[in-house]
Amino acid sequence: MQTIMKPPSERNSAQSAAVPMRKIDPQNRAHTFNEVALGYTEEEALREARRCLSCPQPRCVEGCPVGVDIPAFIRLIKDGKYDASIRKVKEKNSLPAVCGRVCPQEQQCQNHCVRGRKGDPVSIGRLERFVADIEREKGIVTPPMTKPTGRRVAIVGAGPAGLTAAADLAKLGHRVIVFEALHLAGGVLVYGIPEFRLPKKIVQTEVDYVKKLGVRFHYDSLIGRLFTIEELLKEGFDAVFIGSGAGLPLFLGIPGENLGGIYSANEFLIRVNMMKSYRFPEFDTPIKIGEHVAVIGGGNVAIDSARSALRLGAKEVCIIYRRSREEIPARAEELQNAEEEGVDCRFLAAPTRFIGDEQGKVTGVELAAMELGEPDASGRRRPVPIKGSEFILNVDTAIVAIGRTPNPIIQSETQGLKTTAKGTIIAEQETGRTSIDGVYTGGDILTGEATVISAMGAGKRAARAMHEYLLSKDQAKTLPLSS
Ligand code: FAD
Repeated sequence: MQTIMKPPSERNSAQSAAVPMRKIDPQNRAHTFNEVALGYTEEEALREARRCLSCPQPRCVEGCPVGVDIPAFIRLIKDGKYDASIRKVKEKNSLPAVCGRVCPQEQQCQNHCVRGRKGDPVSIGRLERFVADIEREKGIVTPPMTKPTGRRVAIVGAGPAGLTAAADLAKLGHRVIVFEALHLAGGVLVYGIPEFRLPKKIVQTEVDYVKKLGVRFHYDSLIGRLFTIEELLKEGFDAVFIGSGAGLPLFLGIPGENLGGIYSANEFLIRVNMMKSYRFPEFDTPIKIGEHVAVIGGGNVAIDSARSALRLGAKEVCIIYRRSREEIPARAEELQNAEEEGVDCRFLAAPTRFIGDEQGKVTGVELAAMELGEPDASGRRRPVPIKGSEFILNVDTAIVAIGRTPNPIIQSETQGLKTTAKGTIIAEQETGRTSIDGVYTGGDILTGEATVISAMGAGKRAARAMHEYLLSKDQAKTLPLSS
């Protein structure tokens, strides 16, 4: 039976403290893929909503990349008007149940909340999740359709950037078709972020909402191979949005990295999430996980990999991060969850080589202790190895989660599309307009790996710019590729 962690009651009384969200007890959750955070009850949501001061000049909205009218949706919760509240959120955000779960609100809207000056900011994300979950349980309502414009748009990639651009363009009356390389929509939301943080049924409901807006999806359609961007434009689309993300894993480039038992986090998480290896033998796609697992990296991807390894049966899981706890880029809440579950963290350490046995299987990783030097280009203090500090950690599995870079197919197949040395597409930040007329972009393919909400913000800005571009074109064309 599941036990639930009770929020500390003494904190609830003070207006300066946020109403905590209930979570499954660490001992019970560390070995299942059930969602860890349980959301607010109605009573908790009302209490938290009442902490919002309804500032006349709300700074929280400035911190929201998609510009949700935060005080307005919270006011509607206070009034018990939950349907109106979610409608208010959805005026700007088509994926609220996702954002309410995985957005780093602490660095965005909540970071600007006036309440945060003398206590906890209002838990905007949890309130967004609350109204989104109520709507999901009751049945998603779609807004009335706009008169069709006769313009046709192709969206490449069904991640948060593509889904947002698609939803906004459909709401404006354009005919939108999404081309997705995989067999389902959601991008990292389905193949990267694990079930215990973001249940797939939540993503599916939000994708279904985008479908209800009239957006059509073509799966298993790798653009750059099936059709080029040029072909899409020639064959009847008036504009194209590229939201193909940053799905290519980076490697350490150290000796022994090709030994058996070493995964890239991408491969590991795709096998866990998409191929459902955690549901073996129900799904006949097991993944081999050892007893002693090292995860290299300090972002959300590393934390997700470590927590997944634990749930798959590893006895010890250690995250190895080259800077200190203060610099770790993962969400503080998720690092805390991981540590509560038993994941160990070794800060200020970096791998120098992997060691293997005669069968070519990893048996250990050599680590060098690090100290922090002067700030580097990222503004964070550069980790510097301490000479002679190397030591061996015995492991039988390692997962490398040190970053991702754009998949190069579209860039290499599209003449005239300007890109950076890192493979991201060059475009105007405010509009996503690329070097090719009618081609727009946004999300990780534009910025390099970032966040769900920043990808959605980019999709939104591009949709607005594309709408203006589409209205400036004079005639609709036919669409042979859509069938
Ligand atoms: P993606 O989500 O990568 O979607 C791109 C889509 O394009 C994919 O579906 C891909 O299959 C498709 N595609 C690629 N190439 C082609 C092609 N040639 N033709 C057709 N389709 C193509 N962010 C947060 O805010 N909070 C978190 O907690 C968080 N956790 C994360 C955990 C993990 C494990 C990972 C990997 C990332 C996490 N992120 C998190 C980052 C966030 O998920 C990404 O920044 C976001 O998904 C980027 O959205 P996108 O639409 O640009 O790209």
